[in-house]
Amino acid sequence: MTLFNSHEDDTAKIKVDETVKNRIPDGLFLACPYCGKEMYNKELGPYRVCANCGYGFRLQARERAVLMTTDFHELDADLTQSDPDFPGYADKLDRAKTQTDLQESVLTGTAKIEGEPVALGIMDSYFMMGSMGAKTGEKITRLFEYATQNRLPVVMFTASGGARMQEGINSLMQMAKISAAVAEHQEAGLLYLVVLTDPTTGGVTASFAMQGDITLAEPHALVGFAGARVIESTIHEKLPKDFQRVETLLENGFVDQVVPRPKLAQLIGKIVRLHQPQEA
Ligand SMILES: [Zn+2]
Repeated sequence: MTLFNSHEDDTAKIKVDETVKNRIPDGLFLACPYCGKEMYNKELGPYRVCANCGYGFRLQARERAVLMTTDFHELDADLTQSDPDFPGYADKLDRAKTQTDLQESVLTGTAKIEGEPVALGIMDSYFMMGSMGAKTGEKITRLFEYATQNRLPVVMFTASGGARMQEGINSLMQMAKISAAVAEHQEAGLLYLVVLTDPTTGGVTASFAMQGDITLAEPHALVGFAGARVIESTIHEKLPKDFQRVETLLENGFVDQVVPRPKLAQLIGKIVRLHQPQEA
């Protein structure tokens, strides 16, 4: 395995208030996607949570990095690899890049959470629904390799619509590649902590989102493999409410704890502290 120490930058050091303010005006009226309560954007506060039900509104990856970590240094920011020539794909990628200030649907790097050094991955649902392109897979694989080399825990915030259809089989192959890198990291006795955020679906759920040693989740996040409508039309039955919400996954043992966003960093820091690796 190679140690990748490519381009690092400090772009995440911008203040989160400014980032969100630039994106969504304070006076905008929003409805909570989970409970439906309507509120002004500014009422969501710095953590952007619904005051009624605790749902965490979707964050861009850089916003989350600023909100939950310090000393963030980006890895593989400019990873280059040619994209497949699928009609309209180049335009969609350009739009996503401009909107998220990312080159792919995941932001990776090193950071401190509550003072604890971690290798950090944050998927961005604003980048083509956090879908899995070949570069997304490569960046996540490199993150695990970096963490194994440097004996760091990995903290991964997942958000994905699944495979990226414009990349076909290359997209699907990423899941196996990442899973192999996760396994090496685990064999080295290092901690892998997953935080499921809204929404995490498709192949990501079927692979590295479910491979964590510890799995946390944000309240009411949607997590599943196939979409509810697909399942309903297959089994010809109406699914129960909250079938694919993390509270149901918690009841069924797939999630260790559902944690309100304002308390996440503190808990992650504590878990990382409790799992310091033994000397190799
Ligand atoms: Zn709500």
